[in-house]
Amino acid sequence: MQKHDVIVIGGGPGGYVAAIRAAQLGAKVALIEKDKVGGTCLNRGCIPTKAIIACTNLYEKIQKAENYGVSWGKPNIDLKKVVDRKNTIVQKVVKGVEFLLEKNKIELIQGTARVLAPGEVEIILDSRKLIVESRTLVLATGSSPACLPGLDFDGEKFLCSDDLLDYCHIPEKLDIVGGGVIGMHFAQIYSALGTEVTIYEALPEILPGIDEEVVSTVKRLLKRRKVTTMTNTRFDPAKSCGKTLICIGRIPNTAGLENLNLKMEKRSVSVNEKMETSAPGVYAVGDLVSRKMLAHVAYEQGVIAAENAMGGNRTFTYQATPFGIYTHPEIGSVGLTEKEAKEKYSNIKVGKFPIAALGIAQAMGDIEGFIKVISDEKGKLLGIHMLGPEATNLIGGATAAVKNGLTIDQLAESFQAHPTYPEGLQEAALSALKRSLHIIN
Ligand code: FAD
Repeated sequence: MQKHDVIVIGGGPGGYVAAIRAAQLGAKVALIEKDKVGGTCLNRGCIPTKAIIACTNLYEKIQKAENYGVSWGKPNIDLKKVVDRKNTIVQKVVKGVEFLLEKNKIELIQGTARVLAPGEVEIILDSRKLIVESRTLVLATGSSPACLPGLDFDGEKFLCSDDLLDYCHIPEKLDIVGGGVIGMHFAQIYSALGTEVTIYEALPEILPGIDEEVVSTVKRLLKRRKVTTMTNTRFDPAKSCGKTLICIGRIPNTAGLENLNLKMEKRSVSVNEKMETSAPGVYAVGDLVSRKMLAHVAYEQGVIAAENAMGGNRTFTYQATPFGIYTHPEIGSVGLTEKEAKEKYSNIKVGKFPIAALGIAQAMGDIEGFIKVISDEKGKLLGIHMLGPEATNLIGGATAAVKNGLTIDQLAESFQAHPTYPEGLQEAALSALKRSLHIIN
């Protein structure tokens, strides 16, 4: 029987990145995937939603073309073509990951894995069974959509996000249960298509974890898009009269891992900051363990698990985890929200700059939103939150600043090209220091 150094179960962002990193470090690696590599992110999540949003954003922009002096006939959107385009993009990125695995000499085994013991995995391949052994194991089996208690997804009336990604009709009405990131992405898509969208959120607020001021502005802008937001409201399935997207969270996939008797935290596998589970030599990453189910969290944890499996001593922290949310305008967020910062520190500094005060925003015709920076009393950056054009890209620089412990003075003295959106980041820092150049403090 072949013995590997590392066996990775699950070929999503956590798993395939762990496999690549371990191979880079000289490990003999096998990656077991029962479906397509790329996992939820590439096949049913991050990439397909953004491929569709690219089309619906363009559709919306064309409707405003006359504002830019451009005119032609009434635009039309063909969802079948949108879905076909999305599928072509998904196939291309999946092939890209397969190529990377091959070039890194990773053995990709297509089958369903069941762990027999730490370091011993049974794989069901069609009608055959195969047993593989390894020194270490990285579990990266991801998560699946959760349904409402007592209800099942039926692909017709009660839908999960997977169903809607291949749906080729524009529904007149869509109820979205769950006002988190996934719900927002679909509210963005369907409101652009003219569907009457209602979001039901049982909590007092939508978008948990996002700065309160960003959320209240998003709600105002959703209203303008004719999206109704019902917070503190439990959706009653008996009253559903159209299509209902249920995106109330995701459940870690633990099937096949039972023999390990792992310590759990609710339904997630419990890990320490080195991504080690309670079983020796067994690591776990991504949605299976994560407090923040995000692809880049899975990537980061995958790298750390692989390095530790190969003798390293890396640790993972959720501090400075960025968010990029593709609403219109976009949301970018990293670090403590203003409310969290006030709860934790007796004195904080807050600076804010409106997107409308940026020359580039006026030129591009997209002026909604603001950038907010928060620091402690001494100026150490605690959080940066933004709503506006390019916010999902702009949050990259902001994350580097927060993660590396930069101060508000350093951000204020950063040197930005004109006319660009990063000028707004610098101006928000200047505003916290009462030194704004393009607004009156
Ligand atoms: P997954 O991607 O779920 O991969 C797990 C893999 O394991 C799957 O391929 C599965 O087939 C395989 N597997 C499971 N069990 C077994 C077994 N027993 N044997 C063999 N294989 C097995 N995140 C972002 O950061 N940004 C976004 O914009 C974003 N948008 C999203 C939009 C939607 C609609 C959804 C649903 C998710 C989105 N996410 C986004 C979240 C992101 O997709 C996940 O956090 C990420 O995919 C988790 O990676 P993972 O490797 O842990 O698991």
